[in-house]
Amino acid sequence: MKAVVDGNTCIGCGLCAQIAPDVYEMSGDVAVVKMADIPEAQAADARSAAEQCPVSAISVS
Ligand code: SF4
Repeated sequence: MKAVVDGNTCIGCGLCAQIAPDVYEMSGDVAVVKMADIPEAQAADARSAAEQCPVSAISVS
């Protein structure tokens, strides 16, 4: 599984990094994805963060 944060849409709220700290981290004012391939163990949290992002800046595939 992969996740991408649209840095132009992200408002830097930090929620994704709280929900899935193994997957997302803050880099300045935007969130970034820490890993190219998200392992199954982190997939649910990664997806949950994407669903809860207030501006839908996270795409998962
Ligand atoms: S939850 Fe969305 S808006 Fe908030 S930091 Fe993460 S990607 Fe950005």
